[in-house]
Amino acid sequence: MNAGVSLLRPAPANPATRPELTEALRAAVAAKADAARAFLREAAAEFGTAGELTFANSFGAEDMVLTDLILQAKLSIEIFSLDTGRLPAETYTLIGEVEKRYGVKLKIYFPDADAVEQFVRTHGINAFYDSVELRKACCGVRKMEPLRRALAGKKAWITGLRAAQSVTRTGMAAREFDEGNGLEKLNPLLEWSEAEVWAYIRLFDVPYNALHDQFYPSIGCAPCTRAIAVGEDVRAGRWWWEDPTTKECGLHVSER
Ligand code: SF4
Repeated sequence: MNAGVSLLRPAPANPATRPELTEALRAAVAAKADAARAFLREAAAEFGTAGELTFANSFGAEDMVLTDLILQAKLSIEIFSLDTGRLPAETYTLIGEVEKRYGVKLKIYFPDADAVEQFVRTHGINAFYDSVELRKACCGVRKMEPLRRALAGKKAWITGLRAAQSVTRTGMAAREFDEGNGLEKLNPLLEWSEAEVWAYIRLFDVPYNALHDQFYPSIGCAPCTRAIAVGEDVRAGRWWWEDPTTKECGLHVSER
């Protein structure tokens, strides 16, 4: 064998993360970014000045667009994140990049250590694969309880949800009352397409999770996230062993 030829080739980059930046796409992104900025400004004026508005940043592509919009405009919107303790290494790398790029220290909530210990000792380290109930219980301990602490005292929270992401997210409104958490839920990117999200990231050189280039459209905890095949639903990589209609972690379950 030719010593200069390596059998190891770089993995193919996901074309979805590099849309062709046509004039039409640039114009659509500019219009939607303006609308999202106006939406966020109004939200900040309504809830932010009293510290009652927060943005749940999970470091997905949509959340990176919102992070950029909020921090570039210096809006009075708190940003928080949940560290479940099971995040992929790439997400921690991105957290460090965000802190460096924007000169901020992120407000990160961790699960209650005693509750995690108890759950793992009772059910095992990877119990989420055993049943929907145990998966939801794990999400409850690692995400929902910290989320409740993060939302305590807030009147509204911002998410990066898009309607096209999941069968469970169609029919949502840009602003709706979140019965489960008892506050307004604001979704400024609801009508954005995946191509528009990635065009924004490319045009403004926004940091993003390296896993997106490896066909991970939706990134959560490492053991519950996988790459998807071309043509699969963008949420197919999350809790892939479950029925699609049950696949919300509880953070964004509508009461409807
Ligand atoms: S996504 Fe998986 S590991 Fe993360 S909290 Fe939910 S069940 Fe647990």
